[in-house]
Amino acid sequence: MDEAGRVAIVGAGPAGLFTAAALLAQAPDLSIDIFDRLPTPFGLLRYGVAPDHASIKAVATTLARVFDAPGVHFLGLVDVGRDVTPDELHRAYDAVVYAVGAADDRHLGIPGEDLPGSRSARQFVAWYSGHPDAEPQPLAGVRDAVVIGVGNVAVDVARILLKDAAALSATDMPDAVLAELQRAEIEHVWLVGRRGPEHASFTTPELRELLETPGIGVTLAGVDPAAIDPETLERHARANVAAIAAAVAMSPEVAPRWLHLAFWHRPAVLRGDDRVRAVRLEPTGAGAEADGLEVPADLVLRSIGYRGVPVPGLPFDDGRIPNLEGRALELDGSARPGEYAVGWIKRGPVGLIGSNKKDAAETAAHVLEDLASLPRRRLTDLDARLAARGVTPSTFADWRRIDAAEIGRGGIRGRERTKIEAWHDLLDLVRHDA
Ligand code: NAP
Repeated sequence: MDEAGRVAIVGAGPAGLFTAAALLAQAPDLSIDIFDRLPTPFGLLRYGVAPDHASIKAVATTLARVFDAPGVHFLGLVDVGRDVTPDELHRAYDAVVYAVGAADDRHLGIPGEDLPGSRSARQFVAWYSGHPDAEPQPLAGVRDAVVIGVGNVAVDVARILLKDAAALSATDMPDAVLAELQRAEIEHVWLVGRRGPEHASFTTPELRELLETPGIGVTLAGVDPAAIDPETLERHARANVAAIAAAVAMSPEVAPRWLHLAFWHRPAVLRGDDRVRAVRLEPTGAGAEADGLEVPADLVLRSIGYRGVPVPGLPFDDGRIPNLEGRALELDGSARPGEYAVGWIKRGPVGLIGSNKKDAAETAAHVLEDLASLPRRRLTDLDARLAARGVTPSTFADWRRIDAAEIGRGGIRGRERTKIEAWHDLLDLVRHDA
């Protein structure tokens, strides 16, 4: 098996697992070790895709098949950069593929941004997805929420806030999250775009789903859709503008919950005392001379994009590992033979889960092309080095045990699954089986 080559993939999210699948499709005898910081595979499929998007989450079933191959192993609870260096991996494997995603978020850089009650949509998503590192999100007394940004993440968090909590009870959300969402008394959710609806990065099906959230009214500020000439727009932008105009026209006059869309506005300051209380929105673009809006806010979620995090020991530039079609590069553009990047750390934080398939195919093709000529590397004491540092990787069998426990928890309440979010509960289920 070793003669076919040994590959390490760092990150068991969609990009990493699509890469494993693409490698195995061409070279079924490859030995592939897939590392992850968590004992759970699937990355953003598990901790990013919204809980009420079950059909996208089902991609995990397909991706999990890579672990059926005899040469593929999951090594959870290993933090590459902390527990093992990229240099050690480079010396132990013929090829190392980094699929570490974009684990941080961008900041607005405005006064009040750090007030309690203001946080990133990424943190909010991690919380409702049951990520073990997520901080709790208190929602008692939250009536007014403001979401900054008009991408698909903003649409996800707005929808989760606006949906009747009972409608989420069939999802895999942790029990504590469901209970907190039931405590919220959401009445108003603002979605704020600094440009027009024709420039928004949300996709039309996701926008429509939000606009069609049962029981909501929809208002629009900062733009008149009738003044936008549809002939000047691309098809998706035209569909987005039309969907918004229709939703506003058909909105009920009285509703228990409201979605307020504000375009051509940006947040200038978050006001508050011991917590955030309001957001001052300033007009941008052609309407810049108009008065701004003062919007009450108990919760502010900035949803202005994710940001890559450097892996200690690897080059990092503009949120990504510098690379040419997935082949890692030094900062000066010279090659780093045997190291690769895929997914958001390769191309930046854009694209749907499925976008990773094509991206992974490109990186995998280069790995396979290079394997023929790369020198075989053999640092054989990696296990001993990890053990000496007190690191015992968890296995795919450990994940199966977590998986079964979640399905069991869900079954008690008639749900398909209830996620286990506490580190101690996850670690109780990890027995490091071979
Ligand atoms: P995104 O699509 O890049 O959206 C970021 C939004 O933030 C844009 O509206 C952007 O406006 C705005 N923004 C950036 N900086 C800002 C600032 N300083 N002030 C105000 N607004 C600012 O990113 P995302 O929503 O995080 O999504 C990441 C990727 O995941 C996307 O490709 C998305 O489609 C995908 N995703 C898909 C789904 C799904 O399919 N259901 C769900 C979640 C995420 P400008 O355009 O003006 O820069």
